[in-house]
Amino acid sequence: MDFSWTEDQIAFRQILRDFSKKELLPNYMKWDREEKFPFDIWGKLGTLGVTGLRVHEQYNGSSASCITTGIAAEEIGKGDFNAAYAVILNGLIGEILQEFASERIKEEWLKPMASGNCLLGIAITEPGAGSDAANLQTKAAKDGNSYILSGEKSGISFAKVAHGFVVFAKTSPDEGARGVSAFMVPRDSEGLEIQSYHDMGNVPIGRGSIFLNDVCIPGDYLIGEENKGFYQVMNGFDLSRVLIALQCLGAAEQTLEETIEHVKGRHAFGRPLAKFEGVQFPIAEHHTWLEMAKWLCYRTLWLRDKGLPHTKEASMCKWMGPYLAREAIHECLLLNGHYAYTKEMPIEQRLRDVIGLEIGDGTAQTQKIVIARELIGKEFKPY
Ligand SMILES: Cc1cc2nc3c(=O)[nH]c(=O)nc-3n(C[C@H](O)[C@H](O)[C@H](O)COP(=O)(O)OP(=O)(O)OC[C@H]3O[C@@H](n4cnc5c(N)ncnc54)[C@H](O)[C@@H]3O)c2cc1C
Repeated sequence: MDFSWTEDQIAFRQILRDFSKKELLPNYMKWDREEKFPFDIWGKLGTLGVTGLRVHEQYNGSSASCITTGIAAEEIGKGDFNAAYAVILNGLIGEILQEFASERIKEEWLKPMASGNCLLGIAITEPGAGSDAANLQTKAAKDGNSYILSGEKSGISFAKVAHGFVVFAKTSPDEGARGVSAFMVPRDSEGLEIQSYHDMGNVPIGRGSIFLNDVCIPGDYLIGEENKGFYQVMNGFDLSRVLIALQCLGAAEQTLEETIEHVKGRHAFGRPLAKFEGVQFPIAEHHTWLEMAKWLCYRTLWLRDKGLPHTKEASMCKWMGPYLAREAIHECLLLNGHYAYTKEMPIEQRLRDVIGLEIGDGTAQTQKIVIARELIGKEFKPY
């Protein structure tokens, strides 16, 4: 067993830690209030090589390992939760496009995405298909050398701002997961309409619904093989689930660090709050839980880097990371007293943001179904 980081990973972490403190943390609340995604920051993250971590150099990426990608999710999550989500989502999309997309998509979409010049979203969820993702109704019909897409996608991150979307649609409508294909759909396609949401958290990522009204896309905008879309993306989720956990844990670690400073300086009953066991112990407990979850995440990424099975572990990270982060941030809010309940401090925003990722990319219940399926056996699946 070896828990050490490489020298490159230590240096990369320090660069991101400094960037997070200097460029992200001071603006975290501002971007939430302005309700807009900071594109200039996306470009700067591109120059740091963070927008194409899982993409080959050939396509402007940095060919980073999964562990190094995890470091980015955690460190950027400390500074700005939403910038971290963009890094994670585009990490997932980068992997899918690199592995399965046509050369045309790689040139037109993957390269600019990996260099931080374009932002992509992924559209699976529909009004009638959330946890039961394979039940989607959006259709893609072949028409000569093109596909015609029609249907509605809901809850899509970056709907408001992304330049294009990886859209999942049925090419064999009578089949379940075996009838789903993936397509690259440019935002400016004729027949594509977007409706934005007013979310409680993750505000800068601008979620919304996407309406596909007979949108025509070229045949080589099909990603991978027809009817294999569902299985292609599922493997990518085993990465994004761990990264989301680290993003949430990063936000919680930052909050705990700020809270430790607060309780050292704030006095009650004639001494610093930090002197009271009732204040020390929750800090010690949450630190323990966050560390425990973090190491499960890095072990899972290590398994993925080694090509070893890690689906169950990824689901363990996905339900436990956001849950423990939310608990820690909540406790920190209480330890900071009434000022932390105002919008003058970032803690309430972190709480709102982390709750979103308890749902996005799959709820705790759906993760536990995956874990139980492996532990107890497929024959006991609830569906
Ligand atoms: C911040 C955020 C970002 C998102 N980004 C995207 C995105 O970019 N692209 C995209 O495609 N989607 C996105 N989503 C949508 C997300 O993937 C879905 O919301 C999620 O999969 C759950 O689906 P649902 O909301 O329809 O809930 P439902 O499926 O209706 O579930 C409702 C509740 O029932 C529970 N439940 C369902 N089935 C079972 C079961 N068998 N056993 C026990 N409990 C069950 C669920 O756990 C949940 O608590 C995002 C959502 C959020 C909040």
